Amino acid sequence: METTTEAYSPTERTRVRRAPARATYDREVVHGILDAGRVAHVGFVREDQPIVIPMAYVRDGESLLLHGSTRAGVMTALAAGTPACATVTLLDGLVLARSAFHHSVNYRSVAVLGRGREVRDEAAKRRALDVFLENFVPGRLAEIRGPNPQELKATLVIELPIEEVVAKQRTGGPIDDEEDMALPVWAGVVPVGLQASAPIACSG
Ligand SMILES: Cc1cc2nc3c(=O)[nH]c(=O)nc-3n(C[C@H](O)[C@H](O)[C@H](O)COP(=O)(O)OP(=O)(O)OC[C@H]3O[C@@H](n4cnc5c(N)ncnc54)[C@H](O)[C@@H]3O)c2cc1C
Repeated sequence: METTTEAYSPTERTRVRRAPARATYDREVVHGILDAGRVAHVGFVREDQPIVIPMAYVRDGESLLLHGSTRAGVMTALAAGTPACATVTLLDGLVLARSAFHHSVNYRSVAVLGRGREVRDEAAKRRALDVFLENFVPGRLAEIRGPNPQELKATLVIELPIEEVVAKQRTGGPIDDEEDMALPVWAGVVPVGLQASAPIACSG
């Protein structure tokens, strides 16, 4: 369920130390970034080794939904309640400055810290997968065959609560040193982004 508080509460773990002015706990900003993203990098520690796995996700109210095979390492770790961090990054631009030092990137990113919960209830699991697919391609759900009981059994669904969370973003041009401003070199931003191309139909 959506809550109405405007901001998440920062914690010691979500306090941004470098360029904190670019950090925000604003709920609308966090949701906006999560809704614009497609891939989360989900980190956890397995036998003292940090592992970071790229995964599709969707925001469902105040949770991130993840899904995968019951045999996938990240899914079993999350289902067991292993502490995790899901990071979503949107690269918006390459920032070209007049000096090497001031080159940068424009971006929006969010890190969600916490423990996942397996969605076990069958109706809730079906609904979560519907939310997932509807976000993947809106309207597709009405056209395709849904999961059968065997497929449902082979799929783990995890919800990661969006509670301990922080966003960070950079916008704008390069921030050059005054003495470099007269250098005869192009400076500015090259916008980049995720873009869909023309669909390629399957042979069947
Ligand atoms: C864009 C994208 C979206 C994906 N979405 C999903 C999803 O929604 N659900 C899902 O279950 N899987 C998804 N995957 C696949 C996912 O990244 C894992 O490969 C998958 O969970 C199976 O991992 P595993 O259990 O075999 O590996 P693990 O046992 O977890 O890891 C074994 C080793 O393989 C490495 N590894 C695992 N996956 C990758 C990878 N993708 N790239 C490089 N090294 C890897 C690990 O770091 C580790 O060293 C997605 C991959 C990508 C790139």
